[in-house]
Amino acid sequence: MEKQCEGVAVGIDLGTTYSCVAVWLEHHNRVEIIHNYQGNKTTPSYVAFTDKQRLIGDAAKNQAAINPTNTVFDAKRMIGRKYSDPYIQKDKLLWPFKVVPGADDQPTIVVQHKGQERRLCAEEVSAMILMKMRQIAEAYLESPVKNAVITVPAYFNDSQRKATRDAGTIAGLNVMRIINEPTAAAIAYGLDKRSNCVGERNIFVFDFGGGTFDVSLLTIKDKVFEIRATAGNTHLGGEDFDNRMLNYFMQEFNKKNNVDIGGNSRALRRLRNACERAKRVLSYNVDACIEIDSLFQGTDFCSSITRDRFEELNMDLFRECIDTISKCLTDANMDKNRVNDVVLVGGSSRIPKVQQLLQEFFNGKDLCRSINPDEAVAFGAAVQAALLSEGFKNVPKLVLHDVTPLSLGILIEGDVMSVVIPRNTTIPVKKEQEYCTSKDNQTVLKFEVFEGERAKATDNNLLGWFELSGIPEGPRGHRVMLTFDIDSNGILYVTAEDETTGNSNQITISNDTGRMSPKEVARLIQEARDYEAEDKMFLEKARAKRDLDDYVYKMEKALNVTKKNKGIITKAIVKAKSLLDGDVDQHEKDVFEKNLKELQNVFDPLMPRLEN
Ligand code: ADP
Ligand code: MG
Repeated sequence: MEKQCEGVAVGIDLGTTYSCVAVWLEHHNRVEIIHNYQGNKTTPSYVAFTDKQRLIGDAAKNQAAINPTNTVFDAKRMIGRKYSDPYIQKDKLLWPFKVVPGADDQPTIVVQHKGQERRLCAEEVSAMILMKMRQIAEAYLESPVKNAVITVPAYFNDSQRKATRDAGTIAGLNVMRIINEPTAAAIAYGLDKRSNCVGERNIFVFDFGGGTFDVSLLTIKDKVFEIRATAGNTHLGGEDFDNRMLNYFMQEFNKKNNVDIGGNSRALRRLRNACERAKRVLSYNVDACIEIDSLFQGTDFCSSITRDRFEELNMDLFRECIDTISKCLTDANMDKNRVNDVVLVGGSSRIPKVQQLLQEFFNGKDLCRSINPDEAVAFGAAVQAALLSEGFKNVPKLVLHDVTPLSLGILIEGDVMSVVIPRNTTIPVKKEQEYCTSKDNQTVLKFEVFEGERAKATDNNLLGWFELSGIPEGPRGHRVMLTFDIDSNGILYVTAEDETTGNSNQITISNDTGRMSPKEVARLIQEARDYEAEDKMFLEKARAKRDLDDYVYKMEKALNVTKKNKGIITKAIVKAKSLLDGDVDQHEKDVFEKNLKELQNVFDPLMPRLEN
C-alpha cells in the first residue's frame, strides 16, 4: 500500500495570483483538475498571518481587507531575485506588507504572527502555497502525494527556477521536474502528438493571468519543445481590469452619496472583490450587478455594468496585448501565418473581447480553448507528471479527439434538452437513462437525438430520431430504458428498450453524418455561454410548466372518482390546460406559478378527500 501511494504524482501551476493542481487518473484515462475545500479549481496564492493562526488560499485572500500588512501575495514576483533588484524595489512600493533586505541581499517579508515578528523568504511563502495544493490533492486522492511537476514562466532564469524547486522541497515534495508554463499548455492539448504537420509545429501561447501577461512562441520538433521567443508585460493582468472597474464604481458611489471612500481601505477592498466577481460574470453574460451592504458609513451600494462598458474601460490594455504579440513574432522572425496553433492560457484570456482581438490578429484562426484557460497549465503538468511516473500505460493516448466535443442527449417534454453524455466525456462510453411516457395510454415514444450545450433542445443540432412503438396502454410514467453507446471510432448508437415487453429500436449516428466540424463546435460552445442566462430562465419556466401539468394530471384523476365539485374542477382544469397547451415560450414563468398557486389554494384542501 505504502509503495503505491508513493507513486502518486501531481502537476502544480504555481501562479502569481492563483494556483491550480491536477492529476492524471489512469483508470479514467483523463486528467482531473482538483477542486479545493471551497469547491474552486483555482486557489489564491495568498498566505496570511493572524494572532491565532496561519491562513492559506481563499481564507487568506478573504481576510486581506482587514489584515493587509500580514497578508502576503506576489511571492512569485520575489522568488529567485535579490532585494536590490530594481524590479523588487518598484514592486515594493505597491505591497501592503513589509519587505526588507535579508542575508545575502535576499528579499525578506516581515509579518506579525501570533503576536510575534516573523521573517520569511519568498521560497517559504511559495512552499506554504505548494503545501496547500498538496493537501488539496491528498484530500481528493485520499492518499499521500509526494511527487510533483511544477511550472514556471518561460522567461524564468536559473536562479528563479532553482528557488521554485527549493520551495517544492520545503513543502516536502519530490520535484520531478520544473517545466515551462507554455510548454505545459501545449502538452495539455496534445499538440506534441499531432502528426498532421510535417517537420515542426509552431505554437503561440497567449497567457493572460491575474497580474502578468506572457506570450511565447514554441516550436515542437521530434518531441522537443523549444522556446523561440517570449514577450509580455510583468504588470498587466486581471487585477488591472478589477482596478479600472473599481475606479468606475468608486466615482459613481462618491458622486451619488457626496462622499469620498478613497481613503477607506476596507471599503475599497470589498468593492474590488465585488468588481472581480462582476468581471468574471461579464465573460459569459452581457451585464453584471454589484451589491454591497453598508459599503461606507452605513450606505449600501447597488449598481450594474454592461460588457460594452467594461470593454470600453479596458480597451487600451487589450490593444496593448495585441501589440505585444506582434513584437514576439518579430523577435522570432516568424510570420503569423506560419503559426499552427494559438493556445489560450490564464483566467483573463476568458474575456470575450480579448479572444476576439486575438482571433482577428491571427486572421480568424480557431483558438485552442477547449480546456479551461486557467487550468491548462496544471493539466499539462499533470500529464508530464504521469509520463515521468511508472505504471501509467494510458497516458500517451491522450488526444483530444477522444472526447465528445459536444453534449449528447434527447428532447424531453417541453423542448428540454436532457443530456445523456456530457461534453468532453472520454470515449468509448456507454450510458443508460430511463424515460417515461408523458400521457396516459401512450403507445409510441419518439426519441429525437441532439448535440449541443443549449437548455432548449431545438436550439441544438438534431442528429436523428426514431420511435419505439408497442408500449402497453396504461397511465403515464411507463418506463423505457434508453442507452447511448459511443464506440472508439466515435460512432453513436442510441437504443430504446421496453423491458416489460422486450421491444426495442435503435438508431446509428456516425460522426461524418450531420456531426459538427471543430469550428462549429467552438461556435456552439461559445453560443451556449452567451445564452447562459436565457437558458436558465427557460429551464425554470419549463419546470414551472411541468409542475402545473403534474398538478392538473392529479386533478383529472380526482375528477374521475369524485361526485362533488365536478363543475369547478372541470372549469379550473380547462383554464390551466389552455396555458399548458401552448409552447413553453408562450408564457412567463410566473404565469405558470401563479396558476399553480391558485389551484393549490382552492384544491389542496379538497384533494385528499377527492382522492379517497
Ligand atoms: P495567474 O496569473 O496567477 O497564473 P490565472 O491564470 O488563474 O492566474 O488568472 C487569474 C486572473 O484571471 C484573475 O485576475 C481572475 O480575476 C481572472 N479570471 C478568472 N476567471 C475569469 C473569467 N471568467 N473572466 C475574466 N477574468 C477571469
Ligand atoms: Mg498562470
